[in-house]
Amino acid sequence: MMQVYTFEEGSKEMRELLGNKGAQLSEMYHIGIPIPPGFIITTKACIAYLKKKKIPDSLKEEILSALEDLEKKTGKKFGDASNPLLVSVRSGAPVSMPGMMDTILNIGLNDEMVETIAKNKSKQRWVYDCYRRFIQMFSEVVLGISHGEFEREIEEVKKKAGVEKDHQLGAKELKELIKHYKVVVKRHNAVIPSKPEEQLQKAIVSVFSSWNTPRARKYRELNKIPDDLGTAAVVQAMVYGNKGKKSGTGVLFTRNPSNGKREIYGEYLMNAQGEDIVSGTRTPNPIKNLKKEMPQLYSQLQKICRKVEEHFKDMQDMEFTIEEGKLYILQTRTGKRTSMAAIKIAVDMVKEKLITKKEALLRVQTSDIEKILHPVIDPKAKYTVIAKGLNASPGAASGKVIFDTEKAAQLGKEGQKVLLVREETTPDDIHGIAFSQGILTTRGGMTSHAAVVARGMGKPCVCGCGEITIDSRRNRCRIGNIVIKEGDILTIDGSTGEVIKGEVPLVPPSFTPETKKILTWADEVKRLEVRANADTPEGAKLARKMGARGIGLCRTERMFNEANRLPIVRAMILAKNRKERMKALEKLLPLQKRDFKEILRIMHPLPVTIRLLDIPLHEFLPSPEELLKEIEYLKDFKEVMKSLQEFPHILQLLDPKLQVYLPPIEKFLDDINKKKYQHLSEKLLQEKISMLEKVRSLEEVNPMLGHRGVRLGITYPEIYDMQIRAIYEASAELIKEGMEIHPEIMVPQVCTAQELKWVFKRVKKIASEVEKKYEIKVPIKFGTMIEVVRACMRAGKLAEIAEFFSFGTNDLSQATISFSREDAEKKFLPLYTKRKILQDNPFSILDQKGVGRLMMIAIEWGRKTRKDLKIGVCGEQGGEPSSIHFCHRIGIDYVSCSPFRVPVARLAAAQAALKE
Ligand code: PEP
Ligand code: MG
Repeated sequence: MMQVYTFEEGSKEMRELLGNKGAQLSEMYHIGIPIPPGFIITTKACIAYLKKKKIPDSLKEEILSALEDLEKKTGKKFGDASNPLLVSVRSGAPVSMPGMMDTILNIGLNDEMVETIAKNKSKQRWVYDCYRRFIQMFSEVVLGISHGEFEREIEEVKKKAGVEKDHQLGAKELKELIKHYKVVVKRHNAVIPSKPEEQLQKAIVSVFSSWNTPRARKYRELNKIPDDLGTAAVVQAMVYGNKGKKSGTGVLFTRNPSNGKREIYGEYLMNAQGEDIVSGTRTPNPIKNLKKEMPQLYSQLQKICRKVEEHFKDMQDMEFTIEEGKLYILQTRTGKRTSMAAIKIAVDMVKEKLITKKEALLRVQTSDIEKILHPVIDPKAKYTVIAKGLNASPGAASGKVIFDTEKAAQLGKEGQKVLLVREETTPDDIHGIAFSQGILTTRGGMTSHAAVVARGMGKPCVCGCGEITIDSRRNRCRIGNIVIKEGDILTIDGSTGEVIKGEVPLVPPSFTPETKKILTWADEVKRLEVRANADTPEGAKLARKMGARGIGLCRTERMFNEANRLPIVRAMILAKNRKERMKALEKLLPLQKRDFKEILRIMHPLPVTIRLLDIPLHEFLPSPEELLKEIEYLKDFKEVMKSLQEFPHILQLLDPKLQVYLPPIEKFLDDINKKKYQHLSEKLLQEKISMLEKVRSLEEVNPMLGHRGVRLGITYPEIYDMQIRAIYEASAELIKEGMEIHPEIMVPQVCTAQELKWVFKRVKKIASEVEKKYEIKVPIKFGTMIEVVRACMRAGKLAEIAEFFSFGTNDLSQATISFSREDAEKKFLPLYTKRKILQDNPFSILDQKGVGRLMMIAIEWGRKTRKDLKIGVCGEQGGEPSSIHFCHRIGIDYVSCSPFRVPVARLAAAQAALKE
């Protein structure tokens, strides 16, 4: 088996064997790009070496013969001072791992040769410069001597010579520096072999071994690169950028990697070698200066860039060297780029006919789309992370830390940037969330209230950050030794879960024309429809803006939480009898009707799936702790009033500044005498006490498996009746206006067809009443959520009534795995994924083997009963790319996710179709 290949023998198909660098060099050779000749020692040879820790004789022989071939091609001789061939050895894995592994340049010199070469005055500086570089690199890479030791020596020599930069050192000083370097090597009892062949062999071994350095291993772990690929070693004839004023070296991107613009972007240095650019010892010049300095060479470089890009059909990151006016390309690889650039380059390359639309769609990552839709931390910013939670809703935000919802809402309304920091949020916090830049919670997982609401609103959110403890009494929180007071600034990154102290510069989101283009192409090829989860007119508008093809889940309980509705909803819950409850529901009916009308109008003619009330009633009431606190307070208030009545003059002692907040004292005293306030507090107190009783009566040990969803509808039919009527009347009025609408009624938490039948009967009754009233037909589809295991098992029966299914994969995952969606993420899930007991968090990424199997059964049986059964997914996983691919494969018709994830889902759906 061949272990060494020349560039002539290689090709891009041999990436696995020759590494990325070797394969790319071979390709460049074949298309006539000026590259220094060389050869590649294969990744297989590397793997064999790493196993046996020995270079076999057969490989040594192959290297020698490749070297002879190289001598012929260059007309130079390895180890011959009269016409020396020097070589570089570079690592090159099948997957590019920039900067992770080793490189050694200028191999092939020794003391004797240097002395001979230096006799020629014109070559003196060059040969000393090459030699000192070789000693340093070889010592660092092969002998393991630290970089700093050589840096100290060069600094000293520069100081003595009175120069600032390395390239200002002359031949004499460089010769002196070599002596210093040798002392360093000696101090370590190390030896640099004088035989060039031995230098080369050691360098190759060293490059092979660098595959297993801790940093290379870490990089592979982070980038999910397998450990058994090995690296190739590329041996190439040296070309010299350090041969005087007409020589130099540079790096470039064939397009701007930051914004994707079609322009050569990079930098260069004259009279230098590659590492001078990266080491920062000199400030490189922008590449456009080369156009002035060497116009002909620059235009040659431009042509090469175009040719290489056309060949590889992607933006390239290249290294070049100019040796006495002659240009060489040392390597090329696919350039890393920002998300914005990735999208622009893909779209531009389609326009330039370099790639097809399909290739463009597969090339852009869903994470690119996600990133550009939210403000992100400026990639150039430097900052320290002080805590890490779950990356619940993408985007970054900075703001003043506020622990109280009302205060957050108030300051937010005033235009201040605030970050709402809570242990967890409840429907009561919606107001505060709406006016905050972002949300940080110490408890709760990916489907917690904060996470779901934040994603719906497109607000950055980090949740379940257990390292933070909130001390609400003192209005502060603690992260280890760091204390954050109310008003201090924090930054959160909802894409990574990071919490940062202070303000960090952010880059605003951008929905560029190129992004719109790529998403339009995505829509052309995808089979899976993408709808949005939205429950307000604002949410619906956002859904349309993001390209949703309808609303797949409108959670009606969210409408109950609006500030002007909560008191009515509470009155309904606290009602002592049906009559009282009906009174409250009558007030709610026009409000819900108005909401539905507005949402349907915004979405027309697209479908809107409206889900009947799902959450347990206690969620609309304050917690028992809160109520107890209020009751205590009201009792105190009563006492104060009593004292004031006895000693009214106390009021007059009040600071006049405070008195402006009170009614005129005489009136106040009068009121007190009339027991007005006492009466008020007494009434309030009674109200709170009865509310507490109700809350206690609604308490459940396991509310998630409790009195919610359709069970609630069956217990209090008037609630569902009101909602069904509101949907029918809203629809009837819009149809009368001549609008094409497609409303759908969906029942949550169904486990048996009997439940569905029960609701359906009421739907039919109300439908006929409304149709009679409006004298018009109101076609509304009727369907069920599938979020209970039994519902999957009885799908065939459910489909007899349901015209559509929507998998509620949040609850279905909870029910299938028996992990609480509220608690698992804060208790054991992070450990489970860290220890790889579970690959992923099933509340973020669909558990295909478990939950997915159930879904497949439900789909099969459901469609057996009803061939045209429409099936969607509206759990959080519906916006996650790998789950979307699965949904596509198992025949789901649409996914529904929060509006900001819609563009991501559109691309993922297209990629799923293209990869089929
Ligand atoms: C679900 O369970 O997946 C779902 C969408 O409903 P919710 O999250 O409102 O319980
Ligand atoms: Mg649910």
